[in-house]
Amino acid sequence: MDLYCVMGNPVAHSKSPWIHTRFAALTGQAMDYTRMHIALDGFAQGIQDFRARGGRGCNITMPFKFQAASLEGVRLTPRAQLAGAANVLTFSGPGIEADNTDGIGLVRDITGNAGVTLAGTRLLLVGAGGAGAGVLGPLIEAAPASITVANRTQDKAARLAASHAALAAQHGVRLEASGLQAPGTAFDVVINASASSMDGQAAPVPGSVLREGALAVDLVYGQGAQVFMQWARSHGAQARDGLGMLVEQAAEAFRIWRGVMPPAAQVLAELRAALEAGAA
Ligand code: NAP
Repeated sequence: MDLYCVMGNPVAHSKSPWIHTRFAALTGQAMDYTRMHIALDGFAQGIQDFRARGGRGCNITMPFKFQAASLEGVRLTPRAQLAGAANVLTFSGPGIEADNTDGIGLVRDITGNAGVTLAGTRLLLVGAGGAGAGVLGPLIEAAPASITVANRTQDKAARLAASHAALAAQHGVRLEASGLQAPGTAFDVVINASASSMDGQAAPVPGSVLREGALAVDLVYGQGAQVFMQWARSHGAQARDGLGMLVEQAAEAFRIWRGVMPPAAQVLAELRAALEAGAA
């Protein structure tokens, strides 16, 4: 059995073991996937211990994605380099390959699972932490007309936009930074990549950001996302939680590790059903 895990703090809530175990069963891969709770000051040691046990790779979740991209001896893929954060590590010999699949997972969920085209849209990205950094590059590559990055700490939004300015110019995307109070109005797509829904807080931006029929996506899933989703529906938007992104980013990690693309849409439907039945 090849050994994989998800490392985080907290990590008990993670659905990654459920998802990867299902991917492995559906594609006939012999692998074992567990969750590992890592002390806040123990990330590098946790990686070392897991490798000593024969670990082949791991997913990284909050709050270690930035540390994962700066581990000693790490090689970053271009998308992890641009994000400055990694959520997938692959161990091969003495080396570590670090990738970031959050963005491609989000884009595949929006365009594939939700069937919404991003090209030509006006897009608002709320949040400039690890998740915001991970998704901005792939969102730019999906060629919306414009992206406004809005964050509680406006300086961080400005820094994130500046680090992606060249990519935005290359794809003809107008990229701006803003605070949360007045980021603009009537966006076609609003993505909440802030942690506001983690404890079920109200949407961090005014309802006027949503045009009628807009798509509003919260990267959080489960009970926490409900307030944001109800807010979006009450302003005439189509609401979506982060479960699809979670499954799609996991599918891309599975492909990197095993060379096989698992049936993500099927596993997303199964996971939603299992969660509704209280079985996942
Ligand atoms: P992070 O690096 O800790 O960043 C947190 C971000 O949220 C910062 O931009 C922060 O603003 C902002 N924020 C925190 N509390 C806020 C509030 N009450 N109101 C407005 N903004 C607030 O966390 P992260 O890694 O970016 O993760 C963000 C969220 O995305 C988490 O809830 C995580 O679970 C979710 N996520 C989901 C997936 C998925 O697959 N579905 C993948 C990745 C992340 P400041 O800069 O001002 O502090």
